[in-house]
Amino acid sequence: MVKPTVLRALLMKHGVTLKKGYGQNFLVDGHALQEIVQAVTLDRQTGVLEIGPGAGVLTAELAKRAGRVVAVEKDVSLRPLLEESLAPWDNIRLRFADILDEPMEALIHDELGGFQRIVLLANLPYYVTTPILFHVLEAKTPISDIVVLVQKEVATRMVARPGGKDYGVLSVTVQYHADVRLVADIAPHCFMPPPSVHSTVVHLNCQKMTPVRADSELSFVKVVRSAFGTRRKTLENALAAGLGWSKEHVREMLEQAHISPQRRGETLSLEEFVQLANIFATWKS
Ligand code: SAM
Repeated sequence: MVKPTVLRALLMKHGVTLKKGYGQNFLVDGHALQEIVQAVTLDRQTGVLEIGPGAGVLTAELAKRAGRVVAVEKDVSLRPLLEESLAPWDNIRLRFADILDEPMEALIHDELGGFQRIVLLANLPYYVTTPILFHVLEAKTPISDIVVLVQKEVATRMVARPGGKDYGVLSVTVQYHADVRLVADIAPHCFMPPPSVHSTVVHLNCQKMTPVRADSELSFVKVVRSAFGTRRKTLENALAAGLGWSKEHVREMLEQAHISPQRRGETLSLEEFVQLANIFATWKS
C-alpha cells in the first residue's frame, strides 16, 4: 500500500506526470488493493499477467503471492520508476508495450507457459477497458480467472441480463466466456487522481463458462455484433445490415432458429445467439 504523498514523491523523483489519456488513476487505498488480490487464490504455482502496472503498487502485492508476475505497461516513461520500485522482487517481468498489440496466445505461452494456473489481474485503464476485455476473452489462452477493476457502469453491463438497457455485446461476450460476479465497489477517493465515477472489482471465472458453445467463434462474434450494431432496430434489419444479407435470407435463418424477426438483439439470450451463430456458420459456407 502506498500513501498518496509517497506516490507523489516517487513520481516527482522520476519526473513522471500522470497521463489522463492513458487512464492513469493509480490505486492508493490498501483495502481496495486487497479486494483485487484476494478475489482469487494466488500461490507459487500461479502465473499472473497484469495489464498496466502503473507505479507497481498492485504488481508488488501480486509478486508476494504468485510464482511470477508479467506486467505489460504502455507508458515507457514509467520504466525507471517501475525498475526501481520493483527491484526487490525477482519474480516480476516488465514488458513495455500496448497490450492490444500483444498477441495474447504467444505472450502467455512465452512468459507464463510453465505455470499450472494462469490468472489475469488489472486495474484497467478506463479509456480502453472494453477493447482490452475483448482482446483477452476472444484469444485462445489457458487463463483460468480474470479479476479487473473497471468503471461501475462497465461492470453493470458485464453482468446485465437480456431485456435491459445495459445488455449488449459486452454482456454476451463476457457471459459466453466466463461465469461473472461482482466483487466490491470502490469509491473514487481510493485512486490518485480520483476519477469522476465509481468503480467495481469484477471476477470472471473462465473455467465455469456456459456449456453452450458455438461451432465457430468467428460466426458467434459476427452475429452478436451485427444484432447489436443498430440498437432499437428489429433483428431482421440489424442482421441484414450487419451481415450484408438480404432481409429475406435473414428471415429464413431466423425462422429456422424459431426466433421472431421482429425481436430486437437486446432480448436474445446467450443460447439463442449461439443457435443463430451455428445456423449462420453453415449457411455462409
Ligand atoms: N496498476 C496501477 C494501479 O492500480 O495503481 C495503475 C492502473 S491505471 C488505472 C492503468 C495503467 O494502464 C496505467 O499505468 C496506464 O499507463 C496503463 N495502460 C494504459 N493503456 C494501456 C495499454 N493499452 N496497454 C498497457 N497498459 C496500458
